Amino acid sequence: MATNTCSHLDQIRPVSARTHGCEECLKTGDPWVHLRMCLACGHVGCCDSSKNKHATKHFHSTKHPIMRSAQPGESWGWCYVEQVMLAPAELEARPAESQPPA
Ligand SMILES: [Zn+2]
Ligand SMILES: [Zn+2]
Ligand SMILES: [Zn+2]
Repeated sequence: MATNTCSHLDQIRPVSARTHGCEECLKTGDPWVHLRMCLACGHVGCCDSSKNKHATKHFHSTKHPIMRSAQPGESWGWCYVEQVMLAPAELEARPAESQPPA
């Protein structure tokens, strides 16, 4: 397993889910399988196992790179750019001034 190389952790915001289901599927009445929440804006979209794949479409339309699972009991995240899994501790929004020691 490769080490995490996500360079987008500074784009994580302390968001909360904007909807209780996939935002687009709720409008069209489509079903979904699992839910993913964008950590840049709180958009909730359906996963790639769902027919509409709205979470991935959200990334392509907004370039928001990081989402996390919105399933109960799941706390992992995913960066669409590097395609790496992110641990829960990495998904905390961090202050802009936090710099690694030189
Ligand atoms: Zn990344
Ligand atoms: Zn959807
Ligand atoms: Zn977003």
